[in-house]
Amino acid sequence: MSLKICINGFKGRMGNAIAETAEQAGHEVTGQVDIGDDLNAALSKSDVVIDFSFHAATRAVFETAASLGKPIICGTTGHTQEERADLLKIAEAVPTVWAGNFSIGVNLLCYLTEKAAEILPLSYNAEIIEMHHRMKKDAPSGTALMLAESVLGPRNLSYDDLQHGREGVPGERGEREVGMHSLRGGDVVGDHTVIFSDIGERLELTHKASSRAIFSRGAVKAAEWTVGKAPGVYSIRDVLGLK
Ligand code: NAD
Repeated sequence: MSLKICINGFKGRMGNAIAETAEQAGHEVTGQVDIGDDLNAALSKSDVVIDFSFHAATRAVFETAASLGKPIICGTTGHTQEERADLLKIAEAVPTVWAGNFSIGVNLLCYLTEKAAEILPLSYNAEIIEMHHRMKKDAPSGTALMLAESVLGPRNLSYDDLQHGREGVPGERGEREVGMHSLRGGDVVGDHTVIFSDIGERLELTHKASSRAIFSRGAVKAAEWTVGKAPGVYSIRDVLGLK
């Protein structure tokens, strides 16, 4: 099945990677939308929109897709919790796959992190470290937040337990804290490590991305998967069969 795909954020790093993957998979890129372009016109002649752009651009994408009844694949990160909750309501109107990371390896890392967080007691202190290229605009990464949720859920913790960096004299580490640390530099596509440390041992789970194709393949696969699906918000785990 060949799809007509509209890419929002077309001129960006991910926009380029998605166009290449989509064409290799036999789809047609019918919408090449970036800042200032007419999204409505481009999406009208497409079957689905794939958005990897900027957090402030997401609302217009979701509203346009919902009004045209077109499925949404969203990989954009950097939204606040409130923005996200608000956008999810709009997304319910059409089949939507929204994920902070579209790679199989990272989604498996989330699954393994959930298992570790469930099995290990709170005395195994959890810290999350991510590194990305120096052009990345948001922090922590969407993937680091997915990993944080994989720790918070099984341990009955909340977003208030996240500790974003440490400075000065923060005092002894509490058991409920989940440390979040963002490194930036060079051309790193995306590294993520979750550490569980107790007295005497430390478990580290790491994923390293070396090509954006791992995300664009997941996004194009999600676009194919939404064909014929009922409206609603789906996770990338539904698409990848990792549930
Ligand atoms: P980028 O800066 O290279 O590209 C973003 C593009 O979006 C730019 O061309 C920019 O002009 C465009 N853009 C900004 N505002 C726009 C608007 N209002 N309308 C249309 N286009 C607009 O960034 P990137 O590295 O390609 O990443 C894009 C997004 O995807 C980021 O939020 C990033 O964190 C996210 N990302 C997600 C995944 C994932 O698997 N979910 C993987 C990689 C990157």
